[in-house]
Amino acid sequence: MRFLSLFVGFLIASSTGLYSQNLNKQNFPEKKSVNRVELALPQVDGYTLLRCDFHTHTMFSDGLVWPTYRVMEAWKSGLDVLAITDHIEYRPYRKFTNGDLNAAYEIALPVAEEMGVMLIRGVEVTRKQGVLGHFNALFIKDANPIDNPNPELALKNAYDQGAFITYNHPAWALDTCLLTDFQKAMIDKGYVKGIEVFNNDEFYPRALSWSKDKKLTVFGASDVHGSITDDFGVHGSGASRSSFRPMTLVFVKEKNPEAVKEALLNRLTLAYFDDNVAGDEKLLTSLFLASVKAGKISGNEKQSVYRFRNDSGIPYHFSIGSKKYDLDPNSDILINLASDVKTVDLLVLNMHYYEGKHPLISISLEM
Ligand SMILES: [Zn+2]
Ligand SMILES: [Zn+2]
Repeated sequence: MRFLSLFVGFLIASSTGLYSQNLNKQNFPEKKSVNRVELALPQVDGYTLLRCDFHTHTMFSDGLVWPTYRVMEAWKSGLDVLAITDHIEYRPYRKFTNGDLNAAYEIALPVAEEMGVMLIRGVEVTRKQGVLGHFNALFIKDANPIDNPNPELALKNAYDQGAFITYNHPAWALDTCLLTDFQKAMIDKGYVKGIEVFNNDEFYPRALSWSKDKKLTVFGASDVHGSITDDFGVHGSGASRSSFRPMTLVFVKEKNPEAVKEALLNRLTLAYFDDNVAGDEKLLTSLFLASVKAGKISGNEKQSVYRFRNDSGIPYHFSIGSKKYDLDPNSDILINLASDVKTVDLLVLNMHYYEGKHPLISISLEM
């Protein structure tokens, strides 16, 4: 509870201006409340979209922060679900931490529970990139037995614990996306069911194609080692290259770990990164149509003015025929179209379902 008391203390001190009433001790400068900023997302066909980052590191591998900091940072950056996935095989501070591979999770869990962040137990199995590669095992029960010199046995142990396993950053430190014999075998055996199509600052269109062809669940993740603000900037500062950290959006009907795991198994995810969304074409279409509504404002027999409203935090860039439009988050734009059309087809350029492919979405103009 000590952590939460500190946290609540910020809020009280700043909201009552307590410092000004005490002549013997004044806080200067006055501390600001800690704010959480969420990516606004609509309900989509009865589903809630959870904002998740399933790939982060702490000092228990080669990260630069303590596990409780990851949780507080996750809360501030609007996450609903966080996994800490420290490398099993690469732990430069192991002399100062202990040898228990569950330690980061156990340190973070009480704070996650206090703040209402769902914490998923995970690890990163880390073998030679370009040959065996890196894999995240999520929803594991015990990280220690996954430490096995045989890479297949390591993944099998995780799988036998009920883990959901992803193939991470297929082109990191390489010139192109790779699916090696080992990675193919792990997918064919059913151990690996997910793939990162986005990691930190890298998008892998080829991996997106594999997700469709091989029926893998798509992930977008920060893989953050330092701090999220160093990697992705502060919301609204204008200095960030993206307004929100990369995330996996998970479609659920209930907010609990079982529902999240079930959604991963059913491929009910989209990858969100740098104002782009990638994944299954139907899910992209559903998200877009839940976010954007269009209706006629005025017009004559030939031409009318239609108002397009975006109720989500995701900006949309689309084209109608040869014309391009930008629809900002929580904003409206006006578009001239023929008066007799009931629907219009939008090619949504910041949505991706296959390498080089954007969904063509038919939207009703009768809001
Ligand atoms: Zn990795
Ligand atoms: Zn990693």
